[in-house]
Amino acid sequence: MDIRFDGKTAIVTGGASGIGAAIAKELATSGATVVLADLDMARTEAMAAEIGHGTLATTCDVSAPAQVEAIIDFAVANTGALHLLVNNAGIGGAGEPTGAYPLDTWHRVIDVNLNGVFYGLRYGIPAIRAAGGGAIVNVASILGSVGFNTAAAYVAAKHAVVGLTKTAALDHATEGVRINSIGPGFIHTPLVDDRFDAAREAYISALHPIGRMGSPEEVAALACFLLSEKASFVTGSYHVVDGGYTAR
Ligand code: NAP
Repeated sequence: MDIRFDGKTAIVTGGASGIGAAIAKELATSGATVVLADLDMARTEAMAAEIGHGTLATTCDVSAPAQVEAIIDFAVANTGALHLLVNNAGIGGAGEPTGAYPLDTWHRVIDVNLNGVFYGLRYGIPAIRAAGGGAIVNVASILGSVGFNTAAAYVAAKHAVVGLTKTAALDHATEGVRINSIGPGFIHTPLVDDRFDAAREAYISALHPIGRMGSPEEVAALACFLLSEKASFVTGSYHVVDGGYTAR
């Protein structure tokens, strides 16, 4: 299937690393002008240079609404319009049981993983409407549909992203803005790999019927399909890319 994004501008939050970087690469090599928005400017610029194809870099903490509004403005000012948005930035949080979960971490995870997605929708949807339509993918997780011990804030935020996606899609279905969420299983990125030793990886891999963790490129393929015109009748839905994890 030949998917092209020629003439389209896309923002990918958290685009300097992992899944976001893979989505950005796929979009850029398929013709889109991509804006990476991440916390650290040096890392974001380095990834933009690695991707090439005119990829732009800017900084943003997605938990700050004014900064999210600013990256939308940056994309429109530098490329003329915004058509595609990937609300991907996210953090893991603490590994503590719910009865001992640290309050400050709870609030930070909700701020980044849930509120950050809302701000992207709040400021991104008007810009995409102004461009004549487009699509948004919110990166949730398999933990947007099932629980996982010691991950209360992450699981709560990701479940909320799935519901928020459905409502946003309903609100804007007739306006040419399609909005979907995706649920990756465990994927090899710094978010996960930095916390895993070999025993933990073997345990987690075995939870996926395919018998391994996924790659960022396998997630990017689904995200880019949903962003493309090939998915013109797909909105408000949640799609897993999880090696069968949630099929059990
Ligand atoms: P990653 O490699 O750590 O990349 C996430 C990027 O987002 C990093 O560059 C990070 O910067 C940035 N970021 C963190 N907080 C931010 C903020 N407040 N504002 C802007 N950028 C911020 O992680 P990943 O695995 O690719 O995760 C991407 C998304 O996929 C997340 O939403 C995650 O929950 C989701 N996901 C991941 C997996 C998995 O197994 N990897 C599975 C399901 C869903 P720093 O490195 O400086 O913090």
